[in-house]
Amino acid sequence: MHNPVAIITGAGRGIGRAIALELSSRGYRLALASRTQSDLESLANQTKSALPIPTDITNPNEIQHLVDKTLSTFGRIDAIINNAGLAPAASIEATTLDQWHAVLNTNLSSAFYLAKAVWPTFKQQQSGCIINISSFSSRDPLPGFAAYGSAKAGLNLLSLVLAREGAPHGIRSYCIAPSAVETKMFRAIVSNEKWPREKTLDPADVARVAAQCIDGDLKYTSGEVIFLSKSL
Ligand code: NAP
Repeated sequence: MHNPVAIITGAGRGIGRAIALELSSRGYRLALASRTQSDLESLANQTKSALPIPTDITNPNEIQHLVDKTLSTFGRIDAIINNAGLAPAASIEATTLDQWHAVLNTNLSSAFYLAKAVWPTFKQQQSGCIINISSFSSRDPLPGFAAYGSAKAGLNLLSLVLAREGAPHGIRSYCIAPSAVETKMFRAIVSNEKWPREKTLDPADVARVAAQCIDGDLKYTSGEVIFLSKSL
């Protein structure tokens, strides 16, 4: 028996941090990735077996290093959670080409880079689970989220393709698409007056659903988009 291993991107705060704490409580060993080392170290100090690996997920070379370092430390990878995201609000007229590419790279391309880098390991193990954190914006974007909504809609479809291609190799893929979650990202966009605390999900609510997909009651669905909301 081994303790399973998960890589979590955007683990430094918000939903990623909550997923790390949830999986740690279930005995997972963790590779924690985001750009701010101090966030990762403070989280690692609160978990039993976690390795901070500072990573910019928009860089495929850093993603490959993340996978290599996880394998050389823990010897296997059971799940990846593509959670890190970027959600600047800007109208189509105001969005620069650089901003467009940054949002697509962070929310969509990075998930492809990590899935591709871990694929040979999952195939060789004949098992592996991919969780992609999408958004309600993928089907109902507010004005100002053209790049973000488009990237997350792409992530929904990528999740389905990963499930279809992965099925013969024991690889499962899920997409979780929350509405408002009480995090730094959400509060940078929407004030308490406009969207009160009672209508936001806790990061831990999303984390529990992710854990259910990996090794709980939801493990027998694959490729679906799971929409979560407290505010409809
Ligand atoms: P958050 O509090 O802003 O945390 C985002 C995390 O991603 C941080 O740890 C950040 O760390 C990391 N990150 C951002 N860019 C990165 C990069 N290039 N490389 C590596 N790490 C990077 O956001 P959150 O609200 O928890 O969001 C997590 C996910 O949920 C995102 O995909 C978001 O789109 C999605 N989501 C959120 C909500 C919501 O209401 N909060 C709703 C729907 C979906 P560093 O800056 O240190 O790198």
